[in-house]
Amino acid sequence: MKNPVTDGVVVYIGLGSNLANPVEQIQAARIAITQLADVQELAFSDLYRSSPMGPQDQPDYVNAVMAVKTDLPPIDLLRCLQRIENNQGRVRKSERWGARTLDLDILIYGDQLIELPDLIVPHVGIAERAFVLYPLYQIAPQLQVPGKGSVADLLERCPAHELKKLKAKG
Ligand code: ATP
Ligand code: CA
Ligand code: CA
Ligand code: CA
Repeated sequence: MKNPVTDGVVVYIGLGSNLANPVEQIQAARIAITQLADVQELAFSDLYRSSPMGPQDQPDYVNAVMAVKTDLPPIDLLRCLQRIENNQGRVRKSERWGARTLDLDILIYGDQLIELPDLIVPHVGIAERAFVLYPLYQIAPQLQVPGKGSVADLLERCPAHELKKLKAKG
């Protein structure tokens, strides 16, 4: 029989939103991810507010990081996350880093290094992004990022920029 606690891989997912009530978007995404078959929530960070990357003519982002355990292969998990983005009104535009209702990135998938056309893991921006590293460190202070070193070391080298903790998790 499958044991949901011991089976599966630990995966870290980055959540972001800057449209249509970002806090509610993040909360809805958390529920949708947890409701996926073969995915169990392990931890969820506080919510953080960050200044946008790229185009500055858009609202601030709300970000969080979630740890889950899953039996889904990486690409299957990516497709599930993209479906949740679409369900929450994500419109894909040509502009890079434009405003969106929901962005779900696979940050880390166990100890795997993945370089597929549609999926690079650990996520390419993980070492430079305060809005990823601070919530990640909060839920996994001992974590080693495959191929990149400890989250603590990465955090030490990453300026906090405009990152602010929004509110304690509810
Ligand atoms: P960034 O990836 O720099 O955070 P973004 O999140 O705005 O930018 P998207 O437009 O959401 O980028 O995604 C573009 C493509 O990135 C997706 O179609 C997906 O195939 C690919 N991708 C590659 N690696 C990952 C990953 N680790 N998690 C999610 N998507 C990824
Ligand atoms: Ca589930
Ligand atoms: Ca992203
Ligand atoms: Ca994305």
